[in-house]
Amino acid sequence: MKQFKTESKKLLDLMINSIYTNKEIFLRELISNASDALDKLSFESLTQKDVNVEGELAVRLAFDKDARTISVSDNGIGMTEAELDKNLGTIAHSGSEQFKEENSDHQGEDVDIIGQFGVGFYSSFMVADKVRVVSRAYGEDVAHAWESDGVKGYTIEEVAADQLPEDLSGEGAHGTVITLYLRPSTDEDDTDQYLSEWKLRELVKQYSNYVRYPVQMMVQKSRELPKPEDAGDDYKPQYESYEELETINSMTPIWKKRSSDVEQKDYNEFYKSTFHEWSDPARTVSFHAEGALSYDALLFIPSEAPFDLYSKDYEKGLALYTSNVLIQERCADLLPDYYNFVRGIVDSPDVTLNISRETLQQNSQLRAIARRVEKKIHSELESMRDNDREAYEKFFDNFGRGLKFGIYSSYGSKASDLADLLLFWSARKQKMVTLKEYAAAMADGQDKVYYAAGDDRERLSKMPIVKTALDHGYDVLLCTQDVDEFMFQFMRSYHVDAVAGDSENKGTDARDVEFANVSAADLDLATDEEKKEAEEASEKNKDLFEQMAKDLGDKVSSVKVAAQLGDAPARISSEGPVSLEMERVLEQGPDA
Ligand code: ADP
Ligand code: MG
Repeated sequence: MKQFKTESKKLLDLMINSIYTNKEIFLRELISNASDALDKLSFESLTQKDVNVEGELAVRLAFDKDARTISVSDNGIGMTEAELDKNLGTIAHSGSEQFKEENSDHQGEDVDIIGQFGVGFYSSFMVADKVRVVSRAYGEDVAHAWESDGVKGYTIEEVAADQLPEDLSGEGAHGTVITLYLRPSTDEDDTDQYLSEWKLRELVKQYSNYVRYPVQMMVQKSRELPKPEDAGDDYKPQYESYEELETINSMTPIWKKRSSDVEQKDYNEFYKSTFHEWSDPARTVSFHAEGALSYDALLFIPSEAPFDLYSKDYEKGLALYTSNVLIQERCADLLPDYYNFVRGIVDSPDVTLNISRETLQQNSQLRAIARRVEKKIHSELESMRDNDREAYEKFFDNFGRGLKFGIYSSYGSKASDLADLLLFWSARKQKMVTLKEYAAAMADGQDKVYYAAGDDRERLSKMPIVKTALDHGYDVLLCTQDVDEFMFQFMRSYHVDAVAGDSENKGTDARDVEFANVSAADLDLATDEEKKEAEEASEKNKDLFEQMAKDLGDKVSSVKVAAQLGDAPARISSEGPVSLEMERVLEQGPDA
């Protein structure tokens, strides 16, 4: 018997002890795995000469009341012995350790842990105390069975030809049959309910309706027998029952439907099952193009950041289909880096198949789609910002840093696109504001956007210079993210649109206002009078200051009387491009 990795064991414990109440999602997980396996096979058959698929690709459901089993089968790509071991012997092999480290302060929130892992297959153990997976990989003569009670470990053995499930026994058969041996039914945990055609049908409709392959089940039907010719007047209709394989899902890909024909809850279910998310998306965007380049696209803006978003393992991208065949699970070229959090699907018959990564990048159709995708995301974010500020602030909390990096890493060339999506903490208003809102509230004669950067908002707001700026009627944006100051350097200035003049307001012309670090030494907040005073004081105490500078050595570059001290006795400021606060952040390194 093989042991699960320790990690896996812990998760299995969580699963089995059913911290997650919505146990019925096990079926959705198994069906989407089956659908993935069909996708993989159909992709291979299109790209490899020696892979041919005969017959219809489908998922089959069955249940056996007496044996208390449910089975989910597919004639997809199947798994070899080694693949069974690798894929089903380890839960979330790569992400789990890291996830735990990064989320050590959320240990109580188990639901999220499971969701983040995408431990789909293991959800079977929420309802089953034994799971048997018999699989025959495409092109293989033998099949193997993986079996586990979820606690002790698992076994893998070859299945003798005469022991094979019917679906896998024919010549050249391939695919996977997963059988769940349901736990005993109890009052809190009614597993009996799954042993009915009605319940399974309901679950498929609810969670897997848009799976693109038929999800079929043998169902009991009854029909009226033809009336015998010699039937008398007192003939009563006779019925017979028969079995029929019925497709129970709608099969239309949800992204091909107009959004007016789809209910949001269906989008939510689709999103969660496809992308292994456990909370509904913040926004759903669907759009379609017809003509020279036709495509359907469905995009989601998540409501939570994936745990690995800022790690190097995170892969951005949209799923790319051509005529219903999945070409690439995460096509990176369809998304700019700063929208890397967006999940979704693009399906276009015009995108050529057999594309490798290199040619994808040069593919002009793809580039055209990517441009439209970017525009759509942008306008969705704008609408969220303008119509649902609370949701937008949450969004920005999750993903704002990525937008800022977009400006930084494009050396500012994306600034005009992204600037209005940014939010900053206003020292005056004590809430998040856009740059537009900042500009609209600028004092008469103010010609700069002032910010202060550091690692702690509380501390920034207590800086004497911030207080001084506020006293002068200048708001200060308090910035605490590592990227902020670098971003401002690339942005340089913010473009303020012209304001039309009316009888009360004079109106203003369009202009560019520069960003200025409020604590930079050359910041000009003082009045001419204050400056003159300061200069005179510096001059008067020249000798003293020179001596001070000498004593402090290379700790300071100069000592002088500042014109804008407010009520603070002294101030340390920086003259370089990076503020003292920022230097401190940088010294702490990227993980601080
Ligand atoms: P995920 O689907 O997120 O990869 P799962 O726990 O649902 O995680 O499945 C683990 C892996 O097991 C899959 O990635 C796949 O390689 C394999 N697998 C599961 N079910 C099947 C199946 N029906 N056919 C082929 N491979 C499967
Ligand atoms: Mg899965």
